[in-house]
Amino acid sequence: MLNLILFGPPGAGKGTQSEKILAKYGLKHISTGDLLRSEIANKTELGLKAKGFMDEGKLVPDEVVIGMVDNVIMNNPGVYGFLFDGFPRTKAQAEALDALLRQHEENINLMLALDVPEEELIARMINRAKTSGRTDDADSEVQKRRIGVYKNETLAVASYYDQFGKVTTVNGLGSVDDIFSALSTEIDNHYA
Ligand code: ADP
Repeated sequence: MLNLILFGPPGAGKGTQSEKILAKYGLKHISTGDLLRSEIANKTELGLKAKGFMDEGKLVPDEVVIGMVDNVIMNNPGVYGFLFDGFPRTKAQAEALDALLRQHEENINLMLALDVPEEELIARMINRAKTSGRTDDADSEVQKRRIGVYKNETLAVASYYDQFGKVTTVNGLGSVDDIFSALSTEIDNHYA
């Protein structure tokens, strides 16, 4: 299997690049943000619980997102691989993901980390708010909190995978196609 993590701060372009990676490499997408938004749209109990955290720019509790990811992995036997997007976001989630994959005798092959300066992240979120309808993009306090959460809780995930030599950083500034081409090169270099 080819199991990849697309990593980066909020607004780094993970969603856009994910679509292109999925199409090229035939992986199954696991975006915890998308899964949570779909729970909210369906007004499930999980969605109602998650919405408050998301609207405030806080993380949804680990056990909730880990449970969702576990479900998707279990319901997709025989896929070529997974692309994890927006997950793991804490060291506890990373450890739980490793344990889940181990149960299937699998592991993470590579983490692709998108590097984007903070001013650009804010500009992209403001821009995305105009069309996404995402309440968490529109408010400047929430944007700042999400970047703060990224620094305080999520950056540790990169250090976690770095200790196993699994992280490669890609410049997230430039055209969508240029960034995709840099990501593809990294994937091919590791797993051609
Ligand atoms: P972005 O791509 O802008 O970072 P996401 O769509 O990945 O946004 O996530 C939106 C919100 O959903 C997060 O701010 C958080 O509240 C919640 N969320 C998504 N993934 C996770 C996760 N792995 N752990 C905890 N909360 C999450």
